[in-house]
Amino acid sequence: MKIEELLKDLDPITIIEFKNYIINHLSELCSTKNSNSKIISKFKNENMICKECGSKIYKNGRTQNGIQKYICSCCKKTYSETTNTIICHSKLPFEVWKNIIDNLLNGFSLRRIAEENNISLLTSFRIRHKVLYALKTFVNSINLSVEIQSDEKYFSINLKETKPINMPRYSKKRSSIKSPYRGISHHKICVVSSIDEFDNLLLEIVGLGRCTTDMLNDSLGQKLNNAKSINADSASAYQEFCQNNQLILNAISSGFHSDGIYNISKINGVHSQLETWLKKFRGVSTRHLQEYLDWFVYIFIMKKRFMLNKIKTESYTNIIIDNNYIKAKDIFHIKMPIDLNIAYAEYFNQS
Ligand SMILES: [Zn+2]
Repeated sequence: MKIEELLKDLDPITIIEFKNYIINHLSELCSTKNSNSKIISKFKNENMICKECGSKIYKNGRTQNGIQKYICSCCKKTYSETTNTIICHSKLPFEVWKNIIDNLLNGFSLRRIAEENNISLLTSFRIRHKVLYALKTFVNSINLSVEIQSDEKYFSINLKETKPINMPRYSKKRSSIKSPYRGISHHKICVVSSIDEFDNLLLEIVGLGRCTTDMLNDSLGQKLNNAKSINADSASAYQEFCQNNQLILNAISSGFHSDGIYNISKINGVHSQLETWLKKFRGVSTRHLQEYLDWFVYIFIMKKRFMLNKIKTESYTNIIIDNNYIKAKDIFHIKMPIDLNIAYAEYFNQS
């Protein structure tokens, strides 16, 4: 707003010179040491309060890099603009962060992100998880309304990135043990997937084995906002769920996508998109599966809501000013979304 007022007073020649200056120096202007904190202070709430005691916090000088510091009037706890944001402790400037977020939206591999941004593979790994974690706030805010299509998707357990000590102990005779379970057993991770008529999407890990009413209550049940009906296959879990939530169930025979009037083709379309998209990552570990599902949901919804060039700037502010921040060391301690002891119960019993 202020820029527009400023430009009103300038003559056209100066404005063109100004434009050329900006274009020639864009990279320098966006890569100053405090470029990220400038953006954060633009979007952050003016009246910040102390997380420890709830008192008002006041400006308290700047760091060497020009980042604004704050202090609590009561308990004297100090904060900076970047506290609890994704760029906390990061030395990378705006230009690089913006580029990495672009790369992630395009689904680039870790190696390619590292090469393009001149960062190490480990930094690239950490940033990817930090960004995926930050998307949670956005994804958690999504509700489903009016007409909903719902289905489940089952994933195999993938223990990539799990330390041997934390693995369930396999029996040496593993190959000789036949699983007593067939089809959708407690070896499969159940993901509830639902979409409404406005393309709001939910993909949530709910547990092991076939979907139950309790699993629906804990996932979809928490996301309903003025919902009217659900198209789903005739699984009994949905009958009870719909009764409890005063929803009309349009049941479609199992194995079909449609019964002529009602269908679940939209959510099945999402499933095939998701499958294609996940292939790029050559096996996602179960520990990080929910992050990848959130990532998919984020891109899916942003593409429905915004033009491509707007997605980039929207995403940058969504992610960078977010308070859903995970420390680098905690990335390695993200909890398993399922209980491995249940998944591998028969192997435990055998050894
Ligand atoms: Zn305080």
